[in-house]
Amino acid sequence: MSEYRLNTKCVQGGYTPGNGEPRQIPIVQSTTFKYNTSEDMGKLFDLEASGYFYTRLQNPTNDYVAAKIAELEGGTAAMLTSSGQAANFFALFNICENGGHIVSSSSIYGGTFNLLDVTMRKMGIEITFVSPDATEEELNAAFQPNTKAVFGETIANPALTVLDIELFAKAAHAHGVPLIVDNTFPTPVHCRPIEWGADIVTHSTTKYMDGHGAAVGGAIVDSGKFDWMAHADKFPGLCTPDESYHGITYAEKFGKEGAFITKATAQLMRDLGSIQSPQNAFYLNLGLESLHVRMARHAENGQAVAEFLTTCDQVSKVTFSGLKSDKYYERAQKYLPNGGCGVVSFELKGGRAAAEKFMKNLKLAAIETHVADARTCCLNPATSTHRQMSDEQLAAAGIPAGLIRLSCGLEDAADLIDDIKQALAAI
Ligand SMILES: *Cc1c(COP(=O)(O)O)cnc(C)c1O
Repeated sequence: MSEYRLNTKCVQGGYTPGNGEPRQIPIVQSTTFKYNTSEDMGKLFDLEASGYFYTRLQNPTNDYVAAKIAELEGGTAAMLTSSGQAANFFALFNICENGGHIVSSSSIYGGTFNLLDVTMRKMGIEITFVSPDATEEELNAAFQPNTKAVFGETIANPALTVLDIELFAKAAHAHGVPLIVDNTFPTPVHCRPIEWGADIVTHSTTKYMDGHGAAVGGAIVDSGKFDWMAHADKFPGLCTPDESYHGITYAEKFGKEGAFITKATAQLMRDLGSIQSPQNAFYLNLGLESLHVRMARHAENGQAVAEFLTTCDQVSKVTFSGLKSDKYYERAQKYLPNGGCGVVSFELKGGRAAAEKFMKNLKLAAIETHVADARTCCLNPATSTHRQMSDEQLAAAGIPAGLIRLSCGLEDAADLIDDIKQALAAI
């Protein structure tokens, strides 16, 4: 499939049926796989042969879909996980253990921030957060001798900052570590971080990739470009024998192209077991088949709604990197030339009360904690995810009480704008 263009890969990547085989990806609804001899199965356990033995480690349905995502991102190997949280945890923990250190952009998804700042700290991993707008000097100053990875989000959820992927990759590589980029919001349709120097790409497939609010899931893609052996002292898990796998050295046996995903499957899936169900992988693939068509419309609707909001008296600020007035416009022109995603955030002058009234009066946009769905949805952090905080605390955290995150779906943009108009009039 590598010879085809992205739109074709969305539709037909990952799975090519043989003569008389199912046209659609089969759901292999089986926990286990049958072998004729113990010797056959032994080869799989020793990673001497590739094949399936237990769905906690690998399943054909998942592998077809992971292969499609790898093709879309331009990577050499990929795996599906049960959620985006599991994808980011596995991607980091695969190379950073107790005693290690991660440099991360501070502008990331709340769940990932918590994973790093609370749970991974409890595991003995140190984190240094840097601004997504850090200069090269500021980035370089964040590294320590025990740094194992740099992390950021292409378009951050919910702040909508745009990551300078090339700069973050340059700093990571200067210190002999990979850059891991969560590419959930733009998807590979609008940005392929590997082309800008990222080494590992992660996804919450729950968002645009599924796109229909149907299945929670995640994915990890390896670019196959990072030379683990050249930095063997930093990555003993990949570059020294794994005694729990009969002394295999992943980076030697599977090379740059396969070591990272093989280790994450053989060790982390085996021990932590956050596999995506084959049924959910099937739903995910249905979403991927139209991803290129949907992303264009999401971005178009986001642009139309953002532009309309800038004309409204009751709105004090609109954040959307497709607006010329946006802080990230220039960077988005470089990394997201065809648009980013459909998520817009804006601030109502009337604060918390106005936001509450506005959202109550929306007819098409539903109040949800979800984003990146075919159906438009919205959230006011002050009255939902952050409702325990006072207006003063919210302002200090950079989340004004009147802030609304609006995830533009695939409806007619004119209907979305009419809906916003009538809800603003009701305030
Ligand atoms: C939602 C989200 C996650 C977490 O994904 P889940 O599938 O909900 O576990 C991670 N990163 C980003 C950017 C997200 O939007």
